[in-house]
Amino acid sequence: MRRKLIAGNWKMNGLLADGVELARALTNHAASEEITCDLLVCPPATLLMTVGGVVSTGPIFLGGQDCHAEPSGAHTGDIAAPMLADLGCRYVIVGHSERRSDHGESDATVNGKAKAAISAGLIPIVCVGESLDDREAGRALDVVSNQVRGSLPSEGDVVIAYEPVWAIGTGRSATAGDVAEMHAEIRKVVAELRGEEAASGTQVLYGGSVKPSNAAELLALQDVDGALVGGASLKAEDFWEIARACP
Ligand code: PEP
Repeated sequence: MRRKLIAGNWKMNGLLADGVELARALTNHAASEEITCDLLVCPPATLLMTVGGVVSTGPIFLGGQDCHAEPSGAHTGDIAAPMLADLGCRYVIVGHSERRSDHGESDATVNGKAKAAISAGLIPIVCVGESLDDREAGRALDVVSNQVRGSLPSEGDVVIAYEPVWAIGTGRSATAGDVAEMHAEIRKVVAELRGEEAASGTQVLYGGSVKPSNAAELLALQDVDGALVGGASLKAEDFWEIARACP
């Protein structure tokens, strides 16, 4: 059985004191209660070192929110995958829809970043998801399948996060039926690309307005191996409640 992963994407939020407070609250929870899933926090780059110091003693992994496709070089403002690994990161999010829209990242760009992450010993969390127009036009399955085909490296450990763009930060999550259908489709595409065995071992997370009130229903779905959580990951109590909802 695939272990579940609950990942918190803090996005561009938090100063030093906020990051320390949030990370400490999570490590306190983890010290007093055992949960069945893995936990991951992805703070902004400015907080990685500090938050990494807090979570290094607990069962909470550290991750970056993005990395460059090159291991080093003249790319002002960017962060290379080996730099994240150097700070103790185990994961890095690539191809989040906010990166795809704010920075024009294509599937090919995301593929390059995912490969760079794997080369650096990180596990990329490759994000895919359709727009509201795509969903309403009945093309969601095709759009997401094509994103998986274009973004996923042919080998190396990866996690996939299905995040419908219209569900991110809106309070409106996809229905359990739609999530189940999409996750089964994603696993089918992974099987085509990497074989059945690799597909059955690949974690596919759902993201998009996951909160304590809907986590149990979503996490109970057979092909849902965890959640990528934005807004609710900024509140330790909510994030912990979502983790506790793992069956
Ligand atoms: C996200 O940004 O990855 C996300 C899922 O955000 P939210 O949980 O706030 O919808």
